[in-house]
Amino acid sequence: MTQSFKSPFNQSLTLTLGHLYPDQLNLYGDRGNILTLRRRCQMRGIELRVVGLGMGDALAPDEYDLLFIGGGQDKEQAPVAQDLYEVKGIGLWAAIEDDMPVLAVCGGYQLLAHYYRPAEGPDMRGLGVFDAWTIHRGWRSQRCVGDIAISWNGSTLVGFENHGGQTYLGTAKPLGRVLKGYGNNAEDHSEGAIYRNTFGTYMHGSLLPKNPHFADYLLDLALRRKYGARLDMLSTEEPEASNGANHSGLSLISGSTNGIVPTATLVQKSTILLTQLDDKLEWEAHASILERLGLHSEAAAVLRRLKG
Ligand code: GLN
Repeated sequence: MTQSFKSPFNQSLTLTLGHLYPDQLNLYGDRGNILTLRRRCQMRGIELRVVGLGMGDALAPDEYDLLFIGGGQDKEQAPVAQDLYEVKGIGLWAAIEDDMPVLAVCGGYQLLAHYYRPAEGPDMRGLGVFDAWTIHRGWRSQRCVGDIAISWNGSTLVGFENHGGQTYLGTAKPLGRVLKGYGNNAEDHSEGAIYRNTFGTYMHGSLLPKNPHFADYLLDLALRRKYGARLDMLSTEEPEASNGANHSGLSLISGSTNGIVPTATLVQKSTILLTQLDDKLEWEAHASILERLGLHSEAAAVLRRLKG
């Protein structure tokens, strides 16, 4: 059930997610990422609107708070690459430079780097957001398939990868370090890439259902970007608006409803903390992938945190 809360500036919290190429790039449950974001918002009374951006649709950066682009096979990727470059490129660049959170998976990730060189056919030009490039060395070369776990931000991310292209980073910063699996390539243990708030990764599987902390990280970035400055103003100019919250901040949303913890709480200037959800199932799924990959101590740590 969606509970519509009002923020102190008398407006309910809404985010708009642009889903790029939902009909072309949608492998291995990529859509599950969007369902997860929507559900996690809904549980907190935040509305997440999802707008599909297909071939030929321009991308107006002011209309979105978050972007997602999934993976696809080479034959789908080629026309998408052209559209991305020619139709959406300027808008996407503007969004990225303005710190909009963007999640790009596999084929989508490849197209945000300089180029993808497929096993057959001409190179596909990418946007060059990441200083990286991808080469598919032919159908007989090793394909990177299977479960994958990486270290990220002092924790783990788990997923499933399936790609023929191998990505090499220039100056791009990796998303994380491969603990088990392939990642960007089968050689250097790097996985994915980061530029500003844009995250490229090979992890499908889907990524966000089994990594609730990463899902919330993206939502937090989007909320802070959209509402952070106004909340800053509010916390300095209208301290009386404080709803008895801790620290110097204020409770953005008050009251707990039907067992669901209240929405975002501002505890420090420009920091919106998303309230905790019951993620037992999600973390168990996360731990089971770690177990399957033989990462027993990492799995045990996750389960311990769950109990503690
Ligand atoms: N076509 C790309 C590759 O095989 C991307 C595949 C994908 O998105 N899963 O490398």
